[in-house]
Amino acid sequence: MEQAFGNFVNGEWVDAESGDTFEVVNPADTADVVARFQRSTAADAEDAIEAAVAAQHEWANRPGPERGAILNRASQELASRKEEATEMLVREEGKARSEAAGEVQRAIDIFAYYAQKSLDLGGVVKSPSGRNKELSTKREPLGTVSIITPWNYPIAIPAWKLAPALAAGNTVVAKPASEAPNSTRILVECLAEAGLPDGVVNFVTGPGSELGAPLTTHAEIDAVSFTGSTSVGTSVAQAASEGLKRVQCEMGGKNPTVVMPSADIDEAVEILGVGAFGTTGQSCTAASRAIVHEDVYDEFVDAMVEYAEDIVVGPGLDDPDVGPHVSQGELDSTLEYIDIGVDEGATLETGGERLADGEYDDGYYVRPAVFSDVDNDMRIAQEEIFGPVLSVIEASDFEDVLELANDVEFGLSASIVTQDLTEANEFLDRIEAGVAKVNEKTTGLELHVPFGGYKQSSTNTYREQGDAGLDFFTATKTIYRNY
Ligand code: NAD
Repeated sequence: MEQAFGNFVNGEWVDAESGDTFEVVNPADTADVVARFQRSTAADAEDAIEAAVAAQHEWANRPGPERGAILNRASQELASRKEEATEMLVREEGKARSEAAGEVQRAIDIFAYYAQKSLDLGGVVKSPSGRNKELSTKREPLGTVSIITPWNYPIAIPAWKLAPALAAGNTVVAKPASEAPNSTRILVECLAEAGLPDGVVNFVTGPGSELGAPLTTHAEIDAVSFTGSTSVGTSVAQAASEGLKRVQCEMGGKNPTVVMPSADIDEAVEILGVGAFGTTGQSCTAASRAIVHEDVYDEFVDAMVEYAEDIVVGPGLDDPDVGPHVSQGELDSTLEYIDIGVDEGATLETGGERLADGEYDDGYYVRPAVFSDVDNDMRIAQEEIFGPVLSVIEASDFEDVLELANDVEFGLSASIVTQDLTEANEFLDRIEAGVAKVNEKTTGLELHVPFGGYKQSSTNTYREQGDAGLDFFTATKTIYRNY
């Protein structure tokens, strides 16, 4: 019998009031039930919010270095459980073992980074307009925040929200995605083991449709940090801003990598291959459109197809190039987009078929697909697919490249492959994306610089990660002191 995990409320692991649970299954082998979690209702979320509110004053009043010491211990605790966390992440989410190990290491590093940052929270002193006065600012925590996260980076994303929220003195209710809640559960265990006081972090699992309302509208929630799809994020932003809560939503992408004539084609293919098919294409920053100059278009398509056909697809625990989709729903969605692309008149050069024999029998596998002859107005060039599908679009010149790259409603990440410095700089200036790169894949982020999207990829309120991660979770008080 697989293990059942509770919600974590006020320092205790508890069952949901409903008594119901749900299964988390291994997407590489659906007969493998990884664990069971609580199917919570709004009442459970309310209990968690109350616990977080009760713990807030004491936590906010702890000196920053004390909060930082706890985050540091949590980082060390996770480091000591890295193997277990990696294996669990692969079993619940499906990605390749080395990608999962990198993600767990990222969470370890994020906690260490914000542990240090909690020492630096302060303010500025300015010159007042008179004598015997002092004019300054002070950063304060917001209070109690909710954190709603997706399944595709199930440990890194909760870490990059939890760590700055806690470093700044907030208390938290965290709701992970139901496909992959174990990774957040492990983070919460590490925080508890590190000595985090009861109620400072609370963890509630279950359907977003049920938990979303209390987590976004409860009167005692001061801010909501959400990462997920644009459709859910839009409703989260609307619900939270109705109550004038601070809200941050980071959402979908349709990220281009541009290939110019001066590019080394092998390098461009590698950049696109890893960017489009790594993590099974299930990254918000995955390259989904290759916009290729006509002078190198044919050469690029041939080399890209060869690359895709060499990809090893298999169970994440074997550390293949590409693992399974996370769920039946995500698999079906990718297969549907393959049909849509064919119906729209794009050429399916390779891949796109479900793999279902032998070792693939019980998993959600698709062979990585490359479409050529794609028009930018086709649905496969406009909508987020979230699977290993690359659309190759031909461009006539650099102006055309920029127009095509920007002609989508999303604006998360973008890159150019070129040896021409002017072209590279012009691209960086004119691309409408929150992350812009030269000669690098669209995926992959450094933890100490801001991350977030433009356009429909983000609510464009605050950035995450780096110093910007603390901005969201703090308010600035301006102080006029007369003496
Ligand atoms: P999703 O929007 O379906 O779910 C995200 C979270 O919201 C989950 O925890 C879910 O349970 C919860 N939720 C669902 N309905 C809700 C509601 N009505 N109210 C409140 N919460 C609700 O997204 P997903 O399928 O888990 O993740 C994939 C999506 O996330 C993709 O679109 C991807 O681009 C995006 N993403 C964005 C970033 C980024 O930083 N921009 C990073 C990773 C993933």
